Amino acid sequence: MEIRVIGGGLAGSEVALSLSEMGIKCSLFEMRPHVQTGVHTSDRFAELVCSNSLKSRSIENASGLLKEEATILGSRLLRIAEECKVPAGKALAVDRERFADSVTEQISCSPFVSVISKEVEELEYSSQIINIVATGPLTSSRLFNHLSEHLGEALYFFDAVSPMVTTESIDMSDAFTADRYGTGEGDYINCPLNEKEYEAFVNALMEAETLPLEGFDSRLLFERCQPVEEIARQGRDALRFGPMKPVGLVDPKTGKQPFAVVQLRKENLQETLMSPVGFQTRLRWKDQKRVFSKIPALKNAEFVRYGVMHRNTYIDSPKTLDPTLKSRSLQNTFFCGQITGLEGYPEAISSGRFVAMNVASLKLVSTRRELPRETMLGSLIDHITRSARSPLKPVYANFGLLPREGLPRQGKKLTRLLQTERALKQTRRFAVEWRNAIDGVYC
Ligand SMILES: Cc1cc2nc3c(=O)[nH]c(=O)nc-3n(C[C@H](O)[C@H](O)[C@H](O)COP(=O)(O)OP(=O)(O)OC[C@H]3O[C@@H](n4cnc5c(N)ncnc54)[C@H](O)[C@@H]3O)c2cc1C
Repeated sequence: MEIRVIGGGLAGSEVALSLSEMGIKCSLFEMRPHVQTGVHTSDRFAELVCSNSLKSRSIENASGLLKEEATILGSRLLRIAEECKVPAGKALAVDRERFADSVTEQISCSPFVSVISKEVEELEYSSQIINIVATGPLTSSRLFNHLSEHLGEALYFFDAVSPMVTTESIDMSDAFTADRYGTGEGDYINCPLNEKEYEAFVNALMEAETLPLEGFDSRLLFERCQPVEEIARQGRDALRFGPMKPVGLVDPKTGKQPFAVVQLRKENLQETLMSPVGFQTRLRWKDQKRVFSKIPALKNAEFVRYGVMHRNTYIDSPKTLDPTLKSRSLQNTFFCGQITGLEGYPEAISSGRFVAMNVASLKLVSTRRELPRETMLGSLIDHITRSARSPLKPVYANFGLLPREGLPRQGKKLTRLLQTERALKQTRRFAVEWRNAIDGVYC
């Protein structure tokens, strides 16, 4: 069976080097330098497109826990990152040139990886081919069109999303649950603002800095979903007649319709994550926390992702992928990296390792395995393939995803410690079981 890895970014490089270490041959297709993404600047594999930081190393941090799990699973890129690290306090930051050079050299020298320097315009589906699509947020337009034909509306080319907060961090003494006009079962959390609070919020919003919107005809984008700061610029009351409209809602505290309301919608089946409805924004991240904290119920909100608007190709994974990141509809086709909706360097690397493990066990012993939801990577994959609302909003590692079932009710710090211990234990068990399963056939 032929294995084709498409895209030599973080996820694709992790897949290729992981398979190589397992003694499994693959072809790695990379379109640069013939076709450029507009963001990458070299023809090397695993180029870090922006920051040189792979985020925190501390396992008290969600990203640190994710990296620790990927290390237990055997990530090759994290090993290389350790060799190329530069001092950065608690973060794992790398010398980006050395990192990309080292990954490129190891791929080029591997007898198990055939590098094919060309753009893949369409996938070939056959029982004799396994495709691993790792073409990232800047997937070429020809492949995008091919995937669009096969996945239909389950493929997006930009992100325009609201921030996301943990449900437990919402101050319910300043909020109430209700659906507009009393319909439904109180699925929304409503955060009321009085006139003074609304004024303060709008002022802060107007003063905040926004990020430039690159790579789009912004008029097209704005017709479909205006960022809140743009709406606010249309007039003081524009938000009150838009995403902050209070009609159909009564605050049980006052018995009246509030002056303005921010409605929060559930983001996952576990109801641990919520996001404000119609609050897509391109404010700078540091400003989002400051501005949105002006909403009384969100004054201590824990933001697990910030709102963004940028070019980003990703699939609607809840509709298209199973929990092993294999496509439900495309024959023998896996996805990993940011195209799945898992956002961030550690997420791309760890999903690449996970797919490589499953492709190996599929090839060697005809099985695939799901990661337990109690692990950070397992909970991310569960989120994008099962628990998240469709259409998916890209997500990165956060503690709001980890289940609490089976753990004693404790304070936040202790709960996280127990969640972390359980995640690492389950990851170790998964790694051992995977190895046992392929033992003997592992080259
Ligand atoms: C501008 C920008 C800045 C970002 N900054 C950060 C950051 O600072 N920190 C962070 O954690 N995350 C960041 N991200 C998010 C994400 O972590 C990175 O995009 C990450 O590189 C994703 O890894 P990937 O392997 O999925 O995709 P990529 O690393 O982008 O790799 C995809 C590869 O596929 C190739 N390719 C695309 N189409 C084809 C095709 N048809 N045929 C062959 N090859 C193809 C591309 O050339 C590329 O090499 C950023 C994203 C963007 C777009």
